[in-house]
Amino acid sequence: ARKPLIAGNWKMFKTVPEAVAFAQELKTAVAGVDGVEIAVCPPFTALVPVAEALRGTGIAVGAQDVHWEESGAFTGEVSPLMLKDAGCSYVIIGHSERRQLFGETDEKVNRKVRAALAHGLTPIMCVGETLEEREAGVTEEVVRRQAESGLAGLTPEQAGGLVIAYEPVWAIGTGKTASEQDAQQMIGFIRGLVRDLYGAGAAGAMRIQYGGSVKPENAAGLMAQPDIDGALVGGASLEVKSFVEIIKAAC
Ligand code: 13P
Repeated sequence: ARKPLIAGNWKMFKTVPEAVAFAQELKTAVAGVDGVEIAVCPPFTALVPVAEALRGTGIAVGAQDVHWEESGAFTGEVSPLMLKDAGCSYVIIGHSERRQLFGETDEKVNRKVRAALAHGLTPIMCVGETLEEREAGVTEEVVRRQAESGLAGLTPEQAGGLVIAYEPVWAIGTGKTASEQDAQQMIGFIRGLVRDLYGAGAAGAMRIQYGGSVKPENAAGLMAQPDIDGALVGGASLEVKSFVEIIKAAC
């Protein structure tokens, strides 16, 4: 059985003192919680202190982006080697905010996914349609393109080990959540794509999360769906109380 992963995407929030205080509080609040994997994804500046605060707890740390080169003249970028060094085990790749605001393409997403895997980081690769695309009836087409391009060139073992987050763009930060049925339908669709590309082993092993206005009130219903293996949480991951309630809903 797949162990669900509840990951908090902090986006561009929290200073170092705020991040460390959160980590300390989270550590205490989830002591003894079992059956769910937990990760927090702070901004780059807080990765090292948060990883230090969480060392030995089993709570993982992830970054929110990565460059595909190991080092070089790439001002402003952070490499997969540096993320490993900082104590990360996960990295979010291809978040819709990066796709929409920072020119992330499917090709760049794929390069980043492959580089992350080559350095022993687990990608949390984000896919999802905009409202316009949903209304135009091209949701599956868009998600297929993003998933197929993003996963290109992997081995079945690599594919099975990574995490996909299905995040419909219209549900992000809007308070609108996909219904349990819609989320399950799209995540089942993605699992089917993985099966076609990499076989039943990879499809059965891969964890596919839902993201988009996940809150304590809707988490249990989403997590009860057979293909939904956890959540990528934005706003509700910024407070320990709501994040922990979501974690407990996934157990
Ligand atoms: P919200 O949970 O704030 O809608 O954000 C979702 C998200 O983008 C997580 O990556």
